[in-house]
Amino acid sequence: MKIRYFDHAATTPVREEVIKEMLPYFGVEYGNASTMYSLGRNAKKAMNKARRQVAEALNGEIREIYFTSCGSESDNLAIKGFAYANKEKGNHIITTKIEHHAVLDACKTLEKQGFEVTYLNVDANGKISLQELAQAIKKNTILISIMFANNEIGTIEPIEEIGKIAKQKHIVFHTDAVQAIGNAKIDVKKLNIDMLSLSGHKFYAPKGVGALYVRKGIDFEKLQDGGEQESNKRAGTENIAEIVGLGKAIELIYHEFEEYNQKNKELRDYYFEQMQKRIPNIKINGDLQDRLSGNASVSFEGINGSELLFELDKQGICASAGSACSTANPTPSHVLTAIGLSSQLADSTLRISFGKSNTKEDVDFLVENIAKMINEKM
Ligand SMILES: *Cc1c(COP(=O)(O)O)cnc(C)c1O
Repeated sequence: MKIRYFDHAATTPVREEVIKEMLPYFGVEYGNASTMYSLGRNAKKAMNKARRQVAEALNGEIREIYFTSCGSESDNLAIKGFAYANKEKGNHIITTKIEHHAVLDACKTLEKQGFEVTYLNVDANGKISLQELAQAIKKNTILISIMFANNEIGTIEPIEEIGKIAKQKHIVFHTDAVQAIGNAKIDVKKLNIDMLSLSGHKFYAPKGVGALYVRKGIDFEKLQDGGEQESNKRAGTENIAEIVGLGKAIELIYHEFEEYNQKNKELRDYYFEQMQKRIPNIKINGDLQDRLSGNASVSFEGINGSELLFELDKQGICASAGSACSTANPTPSHVLTAIGLSSQLADSTLRISFGKSNTKEDVDFLVENIAKMINEKM
């Protein structure tokens, strides 16, 4: 059966060019980057190239990039690492109710350790209020962590304005940009971003490699004891092959930025249009303008999301009910609840996320199947 993959917000396949770039580092170039002989120096050189590729994509500097094992680790390192290193300056952190669990749960852990956290509300489209943010700032606020774009509903937050507020108040600004890489132009200088998390597997690099941007001069504590890799901020022998893959993938996705996003947007808008034609009373979740090009989150009464996914899977269609991270979790999505959906409507939500392999014919097949299943139920 042909697989039609509409879950690029959950993960993406590794692209051919990236595999090709990585292969030598699994084989002949197996050196440890901490060693002095040429085999080790080759590994170090390859890693430095990847660091430059990431820095260039973000308009940061090479020494401001730290490689990690995933987006979740980057979020933990940024939030907990920063909080521990700066606790004498204050103990208050501001974040939002719609963050990924890597951010939310890092904040919950800090609360247990004596930090104070404000979780900002979002409006019906999933955007924070800048006024509420400004009002939440206190004398002891040390960190603002607000995601660049939401993984479930695709809403892009007003990052430039948040960066301005943070800068004005001398508060460090971290953003979880895992969903935004390749889907938004990111300039950490222009946007006043101090720390930024990203993850390879969301933009056609492998799973198990991520990076954290930290503006020079900002102190954070390492969370794992061991060697002095990554400027003594992240212990553990570096995953050279995957780091090489991440570097290549971020360069490629920004190289083809316009066409990649234009195509995803066309597919998404076509999908919305067809869905509206075929299914009565659908609700599109998330902001219609400030939105990831490939995200299509839709709710409809009458059918349970996981039931629908199960039926779609029988047709070779991969999609998501809320976010992949919470499919084992029966409680309704915290993001959909935060934008005001009833738990029933939240449970009747389908997230489609488009990417490189999708075609218009795939969308026709998708809509045809959704319409058939929903209309049969009603
Ligand atoms: C996927 C994702 C993460 C986690 O990244 P991993 O590499 O899977 O740990 C964090 N934040 C957001 C917004 C994500 O979409």
